[in-house]
Amino acid sequence: MSVLWKNWAGNQRALVELSRPTTEHELCSIVARAAETGTRVKVVGAGRSFSDVAITDGLAVELCDYGRILSLDTSAGLVSVQAGAPVRELSEFLWTRGLALDNLGDFDDQTIGGTAATASHGTGARFRGISAGIVGLRIIDGAGAVHDCTMDSDPELFRAARAGLGALGVVSAITLRVVPAFNLRLLEEARLFGAVVESFDDLLAAHDHFEFSWVPHTERVLTRTGRRNTEPIESRGRWDHWRAGGSSARNPQALPDGPLRYNEPAHRVWRNPRGPRFIESEHAVPIEATTAAAGEVRRWIESNGAEVLSMGVRVAAGDDIALSPSQGRPTGYISVRCRRRAPHEGYLRAVDAIMSAHGGRPHWGKVHHMGAAALAPLYPEWDLFQAVRSRIDPAGVFENSYTRRCLGPVHPGT
Ligand SMILES: Cc1cc2nc3c(=O)[nH]c(=O)nc-3n(C[C@H](O)[C@H](O)[C@H](O)COP(=O)(O)OP(=O)(O)OC[C@H]3O[C@@H](n4cnc5c(N)ncnc54)[C@H](O)[C@@H]3O)c2cc1C
Repeated sequence: MSVLWKNWAGNQRALVELSRPTTEHELCSIVARAAETGTRVKVVGAGRSFSDVAITDGLAVELCDYGRILSLDTSAGLVSVQAGAPVRELSEFLWTRGLALDNLGDFDDQTIGGTAATASHGTGARFRGISAGIVGLRIIDGAGAVHDCTMDSDPELFRAARAGLGALGVVSAITLRVVPAFNLRLLEEARLFGAVVESFDDLLAAHDHFEFSWVPHTERVLTRTGRRNTEPIESRGRWDHWRAGGSSARNPQALPDGPLRYNEPAHRVWRNPRGPRFIESEHAVPIEATTAAAGEVRRWIESNGAEVLSMGVRVAAGDDIALSPSQGRPTGYISVRCRRRAPHEGYLRAVDAIMSAHGGRPHWGKVHHMGAAALAPLYPEWDLFQAVRSRIDPAGVFENSYTRRCLGPVHPGT
């Protein structure tokens, strides 16, 4: 039976055949059967991508009943989970055992498999995204066979599949490196755009975690700086909890009246409260281009009277994952957030153009309009990714409209 599938933002919808497997054996059988019948398969995580990366015209495989913690080795600092595990549940599980994920984005409803597939990231010049913490993967290929891979056992597959865009196979299980639990001492305050841009490098060097969010058509930004520590927790009150982070950073009307300080477990600090749903684009530029690119986006928004909610700037260390937007270079991430129901396509196309001029790579899970011809030169390991794709999914079982546009067709035997 077909059902209407929608993503969180509501801008992606499709009539799909839906399957909710509970075992790896079932997952393998679904893929094997699809391969025999020429059906396309797409895993959907929590549907938190804004792009059409998770859309399928074939069978949608939802992993909502496939999120168990498989093992925890505290002394080695490794946890293995089924890929459908929500980030929030994993973080809370680790916290009760004195452990944590090293760095997270500002939202934790996603699945581990989905955040890895799109190379999702947090902020901090010395910290990388969630995919970089992966040390082992179990992936089901286009014929329904399982491969275990690590950097030692199959380096090409491992380099590609830690951020596979759902285009390489079904990631069944993920082993992640974890760190001792820590708190984040957060300071949120309103500052001036010019002053923050001027001292951007110093701010990155001085803080473990740093980000800012510009309030369009004003001089003001909200900065968030975080220091990792194991000092006693100093919680926000309920009102401060609401006005902290996401709601205020993205809502021009709700900047904090004065600085807001607190010290809470890192995974709860990163998890921002949410206001109304929105649409977002995000691009990764070389770190040295961050402030220039952000300045151009700001000028474009102001001179075109664009109705956007906010522009956010975050950073990450470089990594070694073939199609990670942070691959091979320290990175500045620039996001532009728009109202769902307001016109936004023209704005986000203009942002694409500004970012392209700075060598920007789009976040795979956010709205962008770039195709394979423009994307290929941005990724030194593009051919490696395509060779892995041809090897483990030669028939294109995991293709969808997004992979056809952004990666091109699978070329069997390359
Ligand atoms: C409110 C909000 C805040 C966000 N904040 C951040 C942020 O701070 N940083 C950031 O980088 N991103 C952020 N994102 C984007 C989000 O992290 C990514 O889009 C992420 O992929 C969503 O995970 P998901 O589980 O919902 O996956 P989905 O969106 O459902 O799927 C994404 C892709 O992953 C593939 N996939 C999922 N599971 C598997 C699997 N087991 N095997 C193979 N492929 C799989 C799907 O096929 C699809 O291609 C945010 C999104 C929202 C809505």
